[in-house]
Amino acid sequence: MNDIFKTLGLLTNNQEGKMNKRIKYAFLFVFIISCLLLISSSNNQNTEKIENVENQETIKPTLENEASLMAVLWCQASAEYRALAYQAYNIARLRLDEELQIDRNQKRAVIVDIDETVLDNSRYNAKEITDKQIYPDDFYKWIDMAKAEAIPGAKEFLDYAVSKGCDVFYISNRRVRCLDGTLRNLQKLGFPQAEEGHVLLKEDISSKEGRRQKVAKTHYITLLIGDNLIDFSEVFDIRSVEGRLASVENYKENFGKNFIVLPNPMHGAWFKALYDYDRNLSKEERTQKIIRYLKSY
Ligand SMILES: [Mg+2]
Repeated sequence: MNDIFKTLGLLTNNQEGKMNKRIKYAFLFVFIISCLLLISSSNNQNTEKIENVENQETIKPTLENEASLMAVLWCQASAEYRALAYQAYNIARLRLDEELQIDRNQKRAVIVDIDETVLDNSRYNAKEITDKQIYPDDFYKWIDMAKAEAIPGAKEFLDYAVSKGCDVFYISNRRVRCLDGTLRNLQKLGFPQAEEGHVLLKEDISSKEGRRQKVAKTHYITLLIGDNLIDFSEVFDIRSVEGRLASVENYKENFGKNFIVLPNPMHGAWFKALYDYDRNLSKEERTQKIIRYLKSY
């Protein structure tokens, strides 16, 4: 820059030396101020981002939300999830074919759970990650939208079972108030026997045993299909992690035989057991409880 001043005759050599120093100091001063402004602006942006995230608690990166994200993505985007769903229903078909070889003096029934067994609610679970959702109200709204998709292989298997003379019963712990949305969703997807009398929702008792016994009065229960141990028998109505693990050991012969299990890492009794079903815990307290079960070496 002082070359320009010299060219214009505005600087002597002596002045040029002084000017060099002044320009250097000026540049240094401008550089420091610019850096300070940049840091301050960057800090403001970070603060705004954090405030935005805090306004939407559910997308705040916590251990649980990271885990939910992975669980939902595994269900929605992994080919392995889809393969496991097909595997479950392929085994169900094999078992049903074997069972059909035996003479029964009662009509056969196949009992299926609904959520994450025949209907895929992963979009609701995704919504829980991206936007704050209030359970159960927002879940009821989701049910009422009747937008859940079918679990791969479910409809095909149930159509097959009905074609072989079986009745289908949908036993779910969705509340009775959700019957209309549930029926609309199942019917929209073309599920067989999706009608009142075949869809048994929760009235006041979470255990499904009473509803299974009701079906057993008129039918021989051939298969039970679900994503949660409570979908199979009251022997699994256990709330501790250790108790649940032990109960599966006790009945291990039944799995893949008359009990067909669908994968569900997103929610269920397995997760509630990790924090002792204690809904009053803060998120931090719940994380502390959950982490107790992590095994390392
Ligand atoms: Mg379920």
